[in-house]
Amino acid sequence: MNPFRAVSRSLRRIDYHSARTERNPWTRAMAWNLLLSLVAGIPGALATDWLVVRSTPIMTISGRLFVDDRGQLDGFALDSPLRMVGWEQARPYGEFSLSVQSMAWGWPSVSHELLASATLSITRFDGAASDGSGRDRAVVASIVERCMRPRAEVDRSLVLSAMNRADDGRARGPLRLGSLLFNALVEWPIIYGAGAAGIWLVWVGAALAQVARTLRRRRLRARGRCPRCGHQVDGNLWSARCPECGEPLY
Ligand SMILES: [Zn+2]
Repeated sequence: MNPFRAVSRSLRRIDYHSARTERNPWTRAMAWNLLLSLVAGIPGALATDWLVVRSTPIMTISGRLFVDDRGQLDGFALDSPLRMVGWEQARPYGEFSLSVQSMAWGWPSVSHELLASATLSITRFDGAASDGSGRDRAVVASIVERCMRPRAEVDRSLVLSAMNRADDGRARGPLRLGSLLFNALVEWPIIYGAGAAGIWLVWVGAALAQVARTLRRRRLRARGRCPRCGHQVDGNLWSARCPECGEPLY
């Protein structure tokens, strides 16, 4: 059999049956839900690209800060082999902890990535607040440059670039368009399911309201009242309609 004809025949059969499926507000709402959830997949993927952030710690560098005999702020990393100045010879200033992590945005697959992002916290011994910016940050950067254990040159430049990038705030890697589209496709059925649940709730509510309306009409009619406006129509033998609102009574 000709495969083209087989396909077109089965398509016609599907069309025939779909023309026979019931069409009511709820099936129409579900059809719209299917379409709109597909469209909403893109903003959904963009939203998770902003909101879902996973950070993986790479390393933590901690150290001490002091003011040397010339009044200059300096310090050393605790795991550094290069402690050139004795802690006792200087006036203690504070301690720092620099954690470096890789950041990944997006769900379920990573649509944005930043190899290293640095978070610096500085505790000053005099109790004054340090926001980890300005001079304090520059000193820590110079400590990393001089004193960080020479594990690998890559590590040091990674940390320094992360520290510099952190200054401008919302640094992120380049957008991966393929991952974004993949996320949109994965999020489509989830948004569709949420929409279907909403439609189902409205449908159940409408059905319950219909049941309540029917019960109310039946109760009013049993008491000899108009099922619509509740007007007493028991003695009204000749009119087929309620004299108040015109509702058919029989
Ligand atoms: Zn009435």
